[in-house]
Amino acid sequence: MRHARSPLRRTVAVSCVAPPADWCYNPATPMSDTNLASLHAEIAACRKCNEAGFFAEHTTVFAGPASARLMVVGQAPASSKSTPKRRPFSGSGGRRLFRWLREAGWEEEEFRALAYFTAITKCYPGPGLNGKGDRAPTRREQTLCRPFLDRELALIRPAVIVPIGRIAIEVFLGRVGPLEEVIGREFTGAEDSPVPGVRLVPLPHPSGASLWLNRAENQAHVQRAVGILAGVRMELFRN
Ligand code: SF4
Repeated sequence: MRHARSPLRRTVAVSCVAPPADWCYNPATPMSDTNLASLHAEIAACRKCNEAGFFAEHTTVFAGPASARLMVVGQAPASSKSTPKRRPFSGSGGRRLFRWLREAGWEEEEFRALAYFTAITKCYPGPGLNGKGDRAPTRREQTLCRPFLDRELALIRPAVIVPIGRIAIEVFLGRVGPLEEVIGREFTGAEDSPVPGVRLVPLPHPSGASLWLNRAENQAHVQRAVGILAGVRMELFRN
């Protein structure tokens, strides 16, 4: 049974395959930086996509504390060349993301100190075929990398997740229609989702190459999402 929590919240079914029970919000799972560091080391050693024939470059994808209550989940990291500061979202798309977050009340360094950043796939997938932007990871790559995301979720156990871009949004919400139907709304993870009960505030991909974002009529949806994040900040981080 799914209930709307407010006009801006709704619970939706997701189409993801449920992770093993011990990866999904098991209260017995110890949460620690040590466990997270060991997971990061395991990911750094992973070559599953290369072995499957994909370009996959390990680069900067994680940041933030294991105790984070807020988790930002992007699509895939940018190349190491475009993240010279070796921090997620430190390129041009990141500047736009942090402008939105500033409008929600967070300065960049403050937000980086409290949120955990990750992505659906943990390696840079290479440039797009048309030379614009980065290649979107295929479903096969997403599937190969999915156990790592599930383990991050189980370790961090965030109260709020901000999925960025359609690929990340669909991992948590299942298939969605036009982005304007989900950007500017808040959702709650369904019982059969990877994150039951967790608040989800989707954002569009902040890349300048995003056609959706460059349509003037979509700015109102982004502003509504910023307003929801401002509310999250007041509720969860007022101290
Ligand atoms: S994207 Fe994920 S599954 Fe693929 S090689 Fe990188 S860490 Fe491994």
